[in-house]
Amino acid sequence: MTQSASNELVSLILHGDIAVLSTDSPPVNALSLAVRQQLYTQLQQLMADNSVHAVILICEGRTFFAGADIKELGAPPVSPKISELNALIEDSPKPVIAAIHGNALGGGLELALSCHYRIATQSARCGLTEVTLGILPGAGGTQRLPRVVGVAKALDMICFGKRIGAQECQANGLVDAIAADDSLLDAALDFARTLVAEDRPLLRVRERRDHLREAEENPAVFQQFRTANAKKFKGLVAPEINIQAVEAAVSLPFDEGLKKEKELYTQLVAGPQPAALQYAFFAERQIDKIPGLPTDMAPKEFSKIGVVGAGTMGGGIAMNFASIGLPVTLLETSQEALDRGLGVIRRHYESSASKGRISDAQAQAAIGHLRGTLDIADLAECDLVIEAVFENMAVKKDIFARLDKTVKAGAILATNTSFLDVEEIASATRRPDAVVGMHFFSPANIMKLVEVVRTPQNSPQVIAPLLALGKRIGKIPVLVGNGYGFVGNRIINQRKLQGQALLLEGAMPWDVDRVLTDFGFPMGPFAMSDMAGLDIGWSVEQSRGETIRDILCEQDRRGQKTGAGYYDYDANRRATPSPLTEKIIGDFLAEKNIKPRQIGTEEIIERCIYPMINEACKVLEEGVAIRASDIDVIMVNGYGFPRYCGGLMYFADQVGLSKVLAIMQKLESELGETMKPAALLEKLVSEGGKLHKITNG
Ligand code: NAD
Repeated sequence: MTQSASNELVSLILHGDIAVLSTDSPPVNALSLAVRQQLYTQLQQLMADNSVHAVILICEGRTFFAGADIKELGAPPVSPKISELNALIEDSPKPVIAAIHGNALGGGLELALSCHYRIATQSARCGLTEVTLGILPGAGGTQRLPRVVGVAKALDMICFGKRIGAQECQANGLVDAIAADDSLLDAALDFARTLVAEDRPLLRVRERRDHLREAEENPAVFQQFRTANAKKFKGLVAPEINIQAVEAAVSLPFDEGLKKEKELYTQLVAGPQPAALQYAFFAERQIDKIPGLPTDMAPKEFSKIGVVGAGTMGGGIAMNFASIGLPVTLLETSQEALDRGLGVIRRHYESSASKGRISDAQAQAAIGHLRGTLDIADLAECDLVIEAVFENMAVKKDIFARLDKTVKAGAILATNTSFLDVEEIASATRRPDAVVGMHFFSPANIMKLVEVVRTPQNSPQVIAPLLALGKRIGKIPVLVGNGYGFVGNRIINQRKLQGQALLLEGAMPWDVDRVLTDFGFPMGPFAMSDMAGLDIGWSVEQSRGETIRDILCEQDRRGQKTGAGYYDYDANRRATPSPLTEKIIGDFLAEKNIKPRQIGTEEIIERCIYPMINEACKVLEEGVAIRASDIDVIMVNGYGFPRYCGGLMYFADQVGLSKVLAIMQKLESELGETMKPAALLEKLVSEGGKLHKITNG
């Protein structure tokens, strides 16, 4: 006999003596105040009801509780808090079972950990992802997870915000049973009936210490974890505080551990990083909002992809599509270049499989989706062709003219150019409306960002499907306008130009790079040039030894690919400062009668970061970026601008725009017109506005 009762968000259905509390709060069943209140009230009533012998917590829609309600972050917590709900569940005199589908994340997993048993569908995923927002799981997650999965696994999950699949959850004791995706409720009911019939004990996680024993006996595990991950955690506050919270799970009794967790949470939210990381999180969700682009367009089918050029970028670009099962044809000019390109791709996949990142079968399937050719006619049936050949307008125009004649009507032709004018490239075809930029970042199979470059001729029918395809291959596609270097390269170019100028005043490449990596970038401009190749846009015929780069390239120091550039590289591509580069720079300055001077950290920051902010203001003024937060998404995901600073625009607001303006005025007086403060910057300072809030939409 089934009985039911419902209030707005949480409904109760009785299956005999098993109560099912089902939450339906779209889109992701966040644990908002209203959901918490209704769950709390219903649970209290069920606990007092002697005819109910077990309770199942389940969710409607696409997911289990996917976390706390992010809209409530930063506001003072209102009872019943998630921790109070968790205490009620864990103290229940009858078993409470979490039935998980979709995601159990953050507060959602903390709630599930307070249940006595957990059952999940095959496709479910669990994780404590708070660290990615600069905080920690503050509803007992740092105390309960290590008690279930052990300290090593808990540190890995909590400090990286990792989500793990149901199989891995079961292998680590995080779920007790797995159900087929389409029969979670039935499986949970069977599970509950068995518990009741066998009178199984209430497994209260807070009472367990068995999985903490290993760390109790070997407390060095925490220090080892810190040391092993120091580079990944550089600059971030939250991972260290999360480690301390897990340490408390081992060193303190449960209730004291909870108090420590709360104390550490309070300490974290008092700092600036959570707000910056939460801003970055929301900025990435804004990129979809594109003025004038209908959201209800029929999706375009992409069933065959072509890539022209199997070099550094072409190979990585091709992998993105092969990895999701789309057939890719790679066009090259010689068999040798093709074999080399395909060989690099194959080795990438094989190495990923040997490291366990993908299975052997996945690697072989992806390799099987790639095909090389020397004949452009083999691209005829492609729905999208992406060109990634040398950065040379004449070469690109020639290829686009030939692609236009060969590739079927209706197909989109994209260029991966770093700086060139996409409209001019499009002018070589009879379908300029279907020619766009798809600017990937190196390594293209790994870096998340793609700038989708729109020209005035492109219709929504071309742009919208490309943005959707970008998402399908796991990227963050940001729509930008056509203009020199688009958004990202135009802005980062300021850093590069100032870095080069600093060499001519007495700095060494590694001095500049060190200051910028200390600032939080993963790489400085010189290490980045070495990685991309110093010879992008350089040719031996035109080189006249007029710049340090010319001289380095002429000496075949073209970057990592030739084993030397600004730096020397060993067989593992580890960089060391190069005495030869130092001599080249010294000789260059001597020849020009320049006396090198000492350049300090502060000056390097002023010269490299502030002109980027100024340039970004111009990008916004000109409408090349839709909104300031898009620039932040680009700088964080394409160039490694520290996410914990929110992004370049958010950082500028934190520093204070008056200070930014004052520095630009100083640089203008020292270096001239190129440093002239942007009109937008001046306007915002005079009006007291915020840069990161600017939008052209
Ligand atoms: P690369 O020199 O590694 O590769 C270019 C490849 O194109 C070579 O293998 C070459 O044989 C092939 N090629 C040349 N002409 C061709 C033709 N007519 N038909 C077919 N193949 C041809 O260069 P890359 O670094 O991969 O750069 C490619 C493009 O991507 C450039 O426009 C560059 O500006 C852009 N890009 C590069 C980076 C980077 O970091 N390397 C990042 C973003 C964008």
